[in-house]
Order: sequence, then C-alpha cells, then structure tokens
Amino acid sequence: MHTITLKAHAKINPSLDVLAKRPDGYHEVRLIMQLIELHDLVILEWNAAEEAAAAKEDGAERLQIRLTCDAAAIPCDESNLAWKAAMLLASRMEEAGKGYPCGTLRIHIEKHIPMAAGLAGGSADGAAVLLGCSALWETGLDLSALLEVGARLGADVPFAMMGAARVNAQLGMTEDPMAATCAVGEGTGTALTVLPPVDAHVLLAKPPIGVSTKDAYEGIDAILGLDGKAPADPLPGRPDIDAVILALNKHDLFSAREKMGNTLELYTLKRYHEVAYTKCKIQECVQNGAALMSGSGPTVFLLAPDVQEVQRAFDATEGIQAQRIMTRTIL
Ligand code: ATP
Repeated sequence: MHTITLKAHAKINPSLDVLAKRPDGYHEVRLIMQLIELHDLVILEWNAAEEAAAAKEDGAERLQIRLTCDAAAIPCDESNLAWKAAMLLASRMEEAGKGYPCGTLRIHIEKHIPMAAGLAGGSADGAAVLLGCSALWETGLDLSALLEVGARLGADVPFAMMGAARVNAQLGMTEDPMAATCAVGEGTGTALTVLPPVDAHVLLAKPPIGVSTKDAYEGIDAILGLDGKAPADPLPGRPDIDAVILALNKHDLFSAREKMGNTLELYTLKRYHEVAYTKCKIQECVQNGAALMSGSGPTVFLLAPDVQEVQRAFDATEGIQAQRIMTRTIL
C-alpha cells in the first residue's frame, strides 16, 4: 500500500476579463490566478490488486474508488472532481499504452476551502488527485503532459496543478518551469504563462450564497453583448491586465492593485446584492487599494502589503453576513 498527502490550495483572481464567446459555447477569457495559503488536504491511499485478481476483472471495475470527505455538503460520488480526476488519469494511462491501473484508491478530502465560492476548491482537489495518482501509479508523465489531462477536467484545474506541483515537494516537481504560484491564463483560461507572484496578505469574505460559474457566464453574455445583441448599458472600463502584469514584474503591488478588475462583477454584483454589499463594506475599511471579487464570486478579497491592514479590515467587517478568512498569497 502506498499513501500520499497533498495540499490543495485555493486561488484568487487578481484580474479577470471575458473577451468573447466562442461558437462551441466556451468563453475566451484573460485572467490572472494567484495561489493562496488556504488549502484542503487530499489524502490518497493506493492498494494495487494482485496481478492475477486484476486480470479477471474488466473495464472500470479494475479501478475501485472510495471517496470520503469531512464536509457533509461535498458529494462523495463520481460527480466529485477528485473522483473524475482519478478516472481521467486512468484512461490517459491506458491511451498511452501504460495499462489501466488495477486496485483500490481511497481518497479522503479534508475540506477547508469554502464551496462554490470562486476559489476553485473543487479544481484544487482534482488537481491534487491527478498529480498524486500520477506519482502512485508511476505514469512517468511530466507536468506539461499532466496539465493537458487537467485541462480536460476543468478550466481552473491546470493552474491548480501548477500550484500543487510547486508547493508539494514530495511530488518532485518544484523545479519544473511550469510549477508556479501565479500565472496569466488565456483562451478558455488553460493556456498559462507563469508570472511573478503577487506578494500580499489577503482577506477573504464569502457571503452565505453560492454562485454558479455557468450562470455567471450566461449572465455576462447579455451584459457584454456577446450573445449578438447590443449591450443594454454602456460598458464600464475593463481591467487593464497588461498594466497589472507590468506592475507585478516590478513587484509593485500598489500600481497592480489600481489596475485590477473583474468583468464578471458586472453580472454577480448586480444579481446578488450580498456580494455588492460585502465588496462595499470591505472597501470602506481601506484607505488605498480595492476589494475585488474572485472568479464568478461570491467571495470578495482584499490584497494588502501588511497583515495589519488585513486585520483592520477583518475587525471592521465583523458584523457583516460573510465568512471571513485571513490568509496570504504563496510566493
Ligand atoms: P470555480 O471558481 O472553479 O468555479 P468554485 O470555488 O466556485 O470553483 P467549487 O467549490 O470548486 O466552486 O465547487 C463548485 C461545485 O462543484 C459544487 O457545487 C460541488 O458540488 C462540486 N464539487 C465537485 N467536487 C468538489 C470538491 N472536491 N470540492 C468542492 N466542490 C466540489
């Protein structure tokens, strides 16, 4: 039996822009992703079947998955991204002529990342399973090949894998050029280029609602006129992602913060007053800099150069209806 325990970190988006809707229904985006300290733990236990027993079984029966999670709201069946990740990698091994893995895989998720929060918690778990199983099953696939498998699981998965590869030394990938904690994503968000990390303390505030990423992207079509009709209102400015990248390259958090933005706020803030209220309350507590929504929401985050500013904002927002977490970016 072999076991591996991996940290599956959440991300925030220090900018996100929606550029176009493609004929296949996916959106062209440009977004910055930054790994933060907040993480789930993913514990994998692999028990390979005896060769003779494995030979008798066929198809998916050869791989038995047992998934558990300490959070009751998380589905522990084949709809969980961790489960899907294991199945996907098993098929990829077979495609590559390496043989389908035979045995029992136990996955336990210790959940700390709020669910449906815009923090990509499910993607982080899926990413950890892809990398962890690749090590347990000795696939021999390098990080670039594994990132391609991850893109089939979900748009946020490849970045989560880059982050997991960087922070989990036992995977032996920390020095891979694609192992990183900050990146800019293009296309559907999976064409990734490494960026210097945002060095900041972070306050997260998640109002007690979930936002469906699918609904947010559908909602933004009408607002931006991506559905072929002219937008109802004149559009406010988009985030200046090139300027944010320039500032990050100079390690200039203040300039970067000024240029950040999230186009999906046009939908989520209008549709969910709880998110608009949370953003407004955090913004009231800071002298310079701004609060921004992560992904499609509802989590709003504040980036600050020192922990005191984050602590002040944490204390000042005690009364708001939101789960607040103090964390920091990973460099
Ligand atoms: P994203 O920013 O990528 O859209 P999110 O943070 O908004 O992600 P998640 O927490 O990843 O959202 O999960 C959203 C949905 O995915 C939930 O409805 C949940 O049922 C499902 N899901 C599947 N696997 C997991 C998992 N391992 N952890 C959390 N949610 C999961």
